[in-house]
Amino acid sequence: MGSSHIGMVVVGLGRAGRARVRDLAASAHFRLAGVVSRRPEHATVSWADALADPAVGAVAICTENALHERQAREALAAGKHVLVEYPLCLSSSAGLALFALADRAGRRLHVEHIELLGSGYRELRAEVRRLGALREASLRSRGPSEGWIGDPSRAGFPSFSGIARLHRLVDLFGPLEVREAALEGGATGFTLRARLCDARGAPIEWVEERRPGLARGASIRFALENGVITAVPARKGEPLFAIDLERFGEEVGGRRESAEDRARELHCLELAAEIERRCG
Ligand code: NAD
Repeated sequence: MGSSHIGMVVVGLGRAGRARVRDLAASAHFRLAGVVSRRPEHATVSWADALADPAVGAVAICTENALHERQAREALAAGKHVLVEYPLCLSSSAGLALFALADRAGRRLHVEHIELLGSGYRELRAEVRRLGALREASLRSRGPSEGWIGDPSRAGFPSFSGIARLHRLVDLFGPLEVREAALEGGATGFTLRARLCDARGAPIEWVEERRPGLARGASIRFALENGVITAVPARKGEPLFAIDLERFGEEVGGRRESAEDRARELHCLELAAEIERRCG
């Protein structure tokens, strides 16, 4: 590992955080400089000491959703580059403020969206381009609601906790508009139904369902001018978190522009906020 590797502290040692620690061992850009954890047996540094340490150049925020905004703000204010697992934050105004802070600080703010990085997804995107204009689309996602993910005060409103689905839809079909949205459910899970449309008015349905014990899964149906797509090509075992980490490294090193990612991020946050507003 070269001395040019930037020290990175990982905050939150759950599934995403453990993937970050694993991938740092082979990173071309970063080295693990510490772990911030609520469990003393895993913590090697406190959050305050990590932010104060000039040897720490970057942080990876892998905690539950409601903590991302504050931790990203504090890290940027301390002069660190920030990689944050999605969602960046739980309102569109907070997203704008965080990117503005990153610009003022001269630091990179990168939001993980591994759902866009897999080869199966890239094949799907190429097929969507090949088959012409959208006629109508449906994307349904389901999964369990145990733990913090089932608690909106920790996970955020479902349009934010499920914002990865909006990123796929915007990446595939361009800027979208919200037409209608409704949320059913309560303490034992929820179903969010949103009706969106693309710039030409083609309807897009997004359904997000979470219940205790519900098996994780997703289904799509995209009807395009020249064909219908009903599945994302399956791929297993791709190192998506590692690919994301190296993209962040290229951004920090000035070798990758991220203006497009930022525009999509802010647009998806606006869509998520509008969906929440319409469910209110
Ligand atoms: P998780 O529950 O497995 O991990 C969250 C971890 O954060 C826990 O270990 C918890 O103890 C820790 N934590 C909470 N508050 C903390 C604090 N103040 N300081 C230090 N640690 C704290 O959840 P996860 O699946 O790893 O998800 C974490 C984030 O990553 C979420 O925002 C999620 O949306 C995102 N994400 C996860 C995946 C995945 O495949 N798991 C994929 C994409 C994005």
